[in-house]
Amino acid sequence: MKPTNERQQRYSKLSSTIQKLALGSIAGVALSALSLGAVGEVTWKDIADDHKTTNDVLQYGMGVNAQRYSPLKQINTKNVKQLLPAWSWSFGDEKQRGQESQAVVHDGVIYISASYSRVYALDAKTGKQLWSYSHRLPEDIRPCCDVVNRGVAIYGDKIFFGTLDARVVALEAKTGKRVWNKKFGDHTAGYTMTGAPTIVKDQKTGRVMLIHGSSGDEFGVVGQLFARDPDTGEEIWMRPFVEGHMGRLNGKESTPTGDINAPTWPRDENGELVEAWHHGGGAPWQSSSFDIEHNTIIIGAGNPAPWNTWARTKKGDDPRNWDNLYTSGQVGVDPTTGEVKWFYQHTPNDAWDFSGNNELVLFEYEEKGKTVKATAHADRNGFFYVVNREDGKFIRAFPFVDNITWASHIDPKTGRPVENEGQRPPLPEPGEKRGKAIEVSPPFLGGKNWNPMAYSQDTGFFYVGANHWKEDYWTEEVHYKKGSAYLGQGFRIKKMYEDHVGVLRAMNPISGEIEWEHKERLPLWAGVLATKGNLVFTGTGDGYFKAFNAKTGEELWKFQTGSGIVSSPVTWEQDGEQYIGVASGYGGAVPLWGGDMADLTKPVPQGGSFWVFKIPSWAEAGEGKNVASN
Ligand code: CA
Ligand code: CA
Repeated sequence: MKPTNERQQRYSKLSSTIQKLALGSIAGVALSALSLGAVGEVTWKDIADDHKTTNDVLQYGMGVNAQRYSPLKQINTKNVKQLLPAWSWSFGDEKQRGQESQAVVHDGVIYISASYSRVYALDAKTGKQLWSYSHRLPEDIRPCCDVVNRGVAIYGDKIFFGTLDARVVALEAKTGKRVWNKKFGDHTAGYTMTGAPTIVKDQKTGRVMLIHGSSGDEFGVVGQLFARDPDTGEEIWMRPFVEGHMGRLNGKESTPTGDINAPTWPRDENGELVEAWHHGGGAPWQSSSFDIEHNTIIIGAGNPAPWNTWARTKKGDDPRNWDNLYTSGQVGVDPTTGEVKWFYQHTPNDAWDFSGNNELVLFEYEEKGKTVKATAHADRNGFFYVVNREDGKFIRAFPFVDNITWASHIDPKTGRPVENEGQRPPLPEPGEKRGKAIEVSPPFLGGKNWNPMAYSQDTGFFYVGANHWKEDYWTEEVHYKKGSAYLGQGFRIKKMYEDHVGVLRAMNPISGEIEWEHKERLPLWAGVLATKGNLVFTGTGDGYFKAFNAKTGEELWKFQTGSGIVSSPVTWEQDGEQYIGVASGYGGAVPLWGGDMADLTKPVPQGGSFWVFKIPSWAEAGEGKNVASN
């Protein structure tokens, strides 16, 4: 108990602060009336500087470079043990499932999306709900991998996000009122949207655009990337990622993607492109990064559809002769025209649903006295790639998980994988419905999945939430039927090691070495955050939000959030204090598709809440020293 006089002193201090605030607000009336309309609007400059500014988080990836690195260091290795919840807030109602969203923070307001295409605005200091938007979803949506949403974009006075019924919606940031709503695909054919849209500014024309992709490879969509006018939602261009399909610009057909004859896709006896080409996947369902200097949108393209390699190979030929462009790779796109500037394929004729969607992190490093401007990408196929982002030329690749079976290495000269024999599942024997099962690692859920890694500018390491697992994998018959799964594969995910599945690894992008690792019993499915405080934050399947020493990997702090964490944490500063926020709520692809891993995660309770942490002022002032050092 504090002495009464001290409490009284505090109270009188508080009262005088309230008086000052009241006076300030009277003086502020005229000011806000004058500048209303400008106040609170997000400009392109704000977004371009997002990775440097600490008072806001405006873009998915915490900046156009998607590094998920913050220069904040108020919370650091010395005091992280004192980190406590400032508040927690529930998404509410009976809708739970996976909460994979990254929050956006602007002017003291948190904008966070939730499962089932919902968005909330919360007071960043108190957690008080300011507004909510719940999208009315039809019954016949077809999300492959849970009803997730990974976040919103913010620009001007609007918030943008994608819905499970294949729409992009713009909301008024102040009220949550819907401004526009554009349908971009047929949701009954499997088009959907789970990724966060992003904002870019075409450096040639000066035009600011909203960029978003589509999901649906598992239903045989043709994956498409879109640029829209953020004010009206009108499409500027559309780019498909199956070779030979036609793009659009200003409402008219523009150019085919690659060669209009699609020479990397096979034809039948009659010279017609095979069924798979019409439904060939390549969906860019994650968020794009933006290379301002080279005026290039950079995004991953999804797997070719169907998964069955033989449906995309000329009869009797070797699949390695049929690359199925522009799938399972990374693409550089011209914002002015929507044309492909460059393409690098991680997995030619992908037989394993490795996809190429994982985030592309833009970073620079010195080598032989030169600055190399590159993308970094930890692919589902188990290899970590460094690619020149000026021209899409391969620089190097190395494994970031153990026991990769499908390829021995990536050829350092050609950048193509050197495949191991017998790792493409064989066709069924005549009279059989399914082919012989083979064992493959990584399995289709990937050495790492969508959950984004972080790059620390201080250590120069990438922090990758990876998984060690494998699968039994066999071919099945496949024919396209609208709205049905288009796979032609069966699978069962299995354990690789007894003691862990998840493995958080610090990867050196130059040497390819594992600098440290931390094992988790359950699969890792959360994004990672790195800070100048020499800290790395991520969440675990069994509900812990954890902090690690970025240099050594030592686990320094953890907090149980009540459900599994499959979202991406962010950090920001408000009124001189550093906050860290993360959504909790278990779900995503693992419990639905994960075989033995789904069984492993069954005890994890569902949830749906947003947690905000900070160092309490009493701890900082030293009053809580004894508590904090326990
Ligand atoms: Ca910022
Ligand atoms: Ca896929």
